[in-house]
Amino acid sequence: MTAAPLRLGISRCLLGEAVRFDGGHKRDAFLTDVLGRYVEWVPVCPEVEAGLGTPREAMRLIGTPQQPRLVAIKNGQDHTRAMEVMAAKRLDDLAGSDLSGFVFKKDSPSCGVERVRTYNEHGMPGRKGVGLFARAFLGRFPLTPVEEEGRLCDPLLRENFIARVFCYRRWQDLMNSGATRQGVVRFHTDHKYLLLAHSAPHYRQLGRLVARVNEYRPKDLVLQYGELFMQALAVRATVRKHVNVLQHILGHFKERLEAQEKAELLGVIEDYHQGLTPLIVPLTLIKHYVQIFDVQYIREQVYLNPHPKELMLRNHV
Ligand code: SF4
Repeated sequence: MTAAPLRLGISRCLLGEAVRFDGGHKRDAFLTDVLGRYVEWVPVCPEVEAGLGTPREAMRLIGTPQQPRLVAIKNGQDHTRAMEVMAAKRLDDLAGSDLSGFVFKKDSPSCGVERVRTYNEHGMPGRKGVGLFARAFLGRFPLTPVEEEGRLCDPLLRENFIARVFCYRRWQDLMNSGATRQGVVRFHTDHKYLLLAHSAPHYRQLGRLVARVNEYRPKDLVLQYGELFMQALAVRATVRKHVNVLQHILGHFKERLEAQEKAELLGVIEDYHQGLTPLIVPLTLIKHYVQIFDVQYIREQVYLNPHPKELMLRNHV
């Protein structure tokens, strides 16, 4: 990756800033104290930036999930237009910030990404809404990884989101470096096993795209590749898929292992399969052999190190 900072957008209240309707905040310790060491946050509070002030009346979404309005609960004032104007302007600014992801505050009528309460004409809530600013963001930046802070408490979702962020950043670097066909082929080669851990159908589809690189202009190629690539990574990696990848990797050097070493490695993979150990255990042993046998093709696979090891994300999946 380039030396430029990894930038993520974030709902401002998650950083501990007192911008909520009640004058409070929702500081998230993982984001501020752990992930914050690796990223430069770009904070946004859509409601404050739409001029609604702090403290302010609590708001809710009213109408249909597809076309809700943002309305103050007590005085009934409709802030939809103010939010739309703010979002259009702010998203223009963010387009120049090269964001590699966005962490949104869950349940908010402005920031929530999914299952936000939306009230129908009878005042009955349904949970199919998306906050107005989050909806505008998703429409403008469909490839950018987004997640809600609440879902990041789940180790699998957390690992998946952060892997997507780092992958997206590598793809942005590829774009910004004036990608060549060769660059796309190299990028694909390095991500093969990571792709396989997420989605075998996308892995095959991307393989077919890369096999026909000469039929595309480089700029179109990298865009098409990026779209499919990010779709692939949005499919969740599972234990079964990781086991498949670990076995593929083992195939690159198993002939060079003593019978006892091979049995030990297969046993460790099986323990992971059975849920007895986390992914980091078989991976550490595999990395050890990759180093010893100097298996260059595997050593360069992003799958082995998709994000900083200090985040310890694979210690919990
Ligand atoms: S959820 Fe969004 S709109 Fe509400 S306080 Fe946080 S950043 Fe502001």
